[in-house]
Amino acid sequence: MHPKQERTLVIIKPDGVQRTLIGEIIKRYERVGFKLVAIKMLIPSLEHIEKHYTLDPNWRRITGEKTINGYKNKGLTPPSEDPYEITAVILKNLKTYMTSGPVIAMIWQGAHVVQIIRKLTGGTEPLTSDIGSIRGDFVLDSYQMTDADGRAIRNLIHASGTIEEAEAEINHWFTKEEIINYHLVQEQILYDVNLDGIKE
Ligand code: GDP
Ligand code: MG
Repeated sequence: MHPKQERTLVIIKPDGVQRTLIGEIIKRYERVGFKLVAIKMLIPSLEHIEKHYTLDPNWRRITGEKTINGYKNKGLTPPSEDPYEITAVILKNLKTYMTSGPVIAMIWQGAHVVQIIRKLTGGTEPLTSDIGSIRGDFVLDSYQMTDADGRAIRNLIHASGTIEEAEAEINHWFTKEEIINYHLVQEQILYDVNLDGIKE
């Protein structure tokens, strides 16, 4: 596979839709040079969201361990030492959050799209997301607030973390028929080897 064929799954979460940020978010990805190859609006089911987060059979353990370490690194005591207990709460809150209203599911394509879209989107916790990233620019949530209120972090967007994760998530959210294969004129400039089609 040529790097320009790499694909990633992006979901504008219910808070992103409610904040009327659909256009802003699409613009951020589009202007870098990525190609939108599938898009739809839906209200996901609880089962669909549970499956989405557990497509990787290790997700419960890894996310639990990461969260426990997060508490310890801040000098705080985690609510449990059992990663599975921690993730059960996270997953329950994520299911409430992600099924609370319509979301926009999209597939974006282009060179290094997984890594670059993660960079443009910013880190998971808006409190520490870089300035200039979508989360850094448009939202203000923190784990301190979500722990106090018993809810999921509101960070506007989901974007696949790795190429393998992207492949599994794309299959979970889209059928083959919903994905459009087409050329964008700008790909001549982004990817053409000799740039020999410009001069008359
Ligand atoms: P992402 O790929 O940036 O969304 O992050 P992960 O895949 O690691 O986590 C998925 C989701 O789990 C996040 O969107 C959060 O809702 C939740 N999550 C991850 N890490 C933590 C954490 O340390 N604390 C809490 N409360 N939730 C977390
Ligand atoms: Mg992730």
